[in-house]
Amino acid sequence: MTQESLPDATVGVPGGHVGPILAKAQSLCRTIAHRDLGVTPLYLLAQSQLPIGLGTQHHYAFTHPRADVMYRDHIDPWLGRGPCAVVNDIGIAEDYPAEDLEYAIIGIVLHELAHILDRPALYDERDCDDPDRLQHDTMVLTDVSKRAARSDLPLYFGHGPSFIRFVIHLAHRATLAGFEIKPAGLFASHRHGLSTIGTYENALGDEPHRHLDWSFRALVASAPPIEFTQQWAADMHRYQVRFPKSQESYT
Ligand SMILES: [Zn+2]
Repeated sequence: MTQESLPDATVGVPGGHVGPILAKAQSLCRTIAHRDLGVTPLYLLAQSQLPIGLGTQHHYAFTHPRADVMYRDHIDPWLGRGPCAVVNDIGIAEDYPAEDLEYAIIGIVLHELAHILDRPALYDERDCDDPDRLQHDTMVLTDVSKRAARSDLPLYFGHGPSFIRFVIHLAHRATLAGFEIKPAGLFASHRHGLSTIGTYENALGDEPHRHLDWSFRALVASAPPIEFTQQWAADMHRYQVRFPKSQESYT
């Protein structure tokens, strides 16, 4: 029996089959965002390892500034506070062929990393010792993540220009680190009512290469090329024309 034909010992173990992919994704995140993450733990939880009802049905993944404390009972080993994302490995495995699973999951994790880097802090540092508040937060979060996209929010909601800029930088850095991926593998902007991510990539020019060693915190504090800002403004205008109703109710 060759190594390849040995039965997979992880088959049937909840989340076991994606464990190595999540470990690879985590290591890649640490490599390409090391200036921002430092030694802070980064938790990537497979939904298949969470009790039923604590995951998401309508998203491939989600993150929340207090997700680490909300899911603390399911994080082993606990290494202290840090950003946390839940990956819906069950939903992803249903939609992607096995050979594409690694590419899909790592792209989805990098998407969540862009959200983590794009918020004011990696995680909400406020004291989270109140069990009632945590339980309430968890219930709200899981309920929201069970609902389909809200019609009163624009399609691109939560995916603004700094998020898109980060996605392009993260894909560039991941590719240089040995995991070849296009920004479209992290975020399909045209499916959110925006121009293609390639358009934004062109507008950003060689910035990802020039600022390779910058932290994302430093990046967001510096203005992107004017072409990039103009592209976003043009998209916002186009969006209002295409979807006047949803834009109205959003503002
Ligand atoms: Zn997102």
